[in-house]
Amino acid sequence: MEQPALLVIISGPSGTGKSTVIREIMRRRTLFFSVSCTTRPMREGERDGVDYHFISRERFEQLIAEDALLEYAEYAGRFYGTPRRPAEEQMARGTDVLLDIEVQGARQVRDRMPDAVSVFLTPPSWEELERRLRNRGTDSEEMIRRRLETARGELDEARTYDYLVVNDEVTAAADRICAILDGERCRTSRCAAFFSEI
Ligand code: 5GP
Repeated sequence: MEQPALLVIISGPSGTGKSTVIREIMRRRTLFFSVSCTTRPMREGERDGVDYHFISRERFEQLIAEDALLEYAEYAGRFYGTPRRPAEEQMARGTDVLLDIEVQGARQVRDRMPDAVSVFLTPPSWEELERRLRNRGTDSEEMIRRRLETARGELDEARTYDYLVVNDEVTAAADRICAILDGERCRTSRCAAFFSEI
């Protein structure tokens, strides 16, 4: 049965382990991961065009002016945005698209595309989040402090998402998100083709 592609939003405070869980989901399922644009500097181990498109503030503003971003937001003093064209093209081809975006961007996407599936990934506790952010060792103390401050506001937004998944363990969190995707595909509202065929 042909079904419209899913647009899956995964949000959660920085340090929740989103990237690791997303990598595990991508290993199991065929999804297009939307590579965002950002004005933040590249971290060690990151690759331009793979983890992000690392661009200047001027270029980012140009993309906004051209309406080339599906959504964008400022986070901890830097800009982040989803390039519109690749995501729309993949969905038009029937490929599910996964967005790893923060809460302001998620709100914009849900407002424009009410069929999007939104998942909030949360660390098991506040202490654990702080521990993970520090252990990552990639950010300055100032940046860690800013991220923790931002995380408080993000956790308040969690209740506006469709699903809440606790990342206590990577494979367990990925199991839950895959189960969510399977469930979403069974929604009668996504099965128009079945009803028109019978
Ligand atoms: P980081 O700097 O740790 O890679 O990402 C910081 C935050 O920005 C994360 O919560 C991540 O989900 C979010 N983010 C990454 N790409 C985008 C994007 O394209 N749009 C928005 N709104 N947030 C993004």
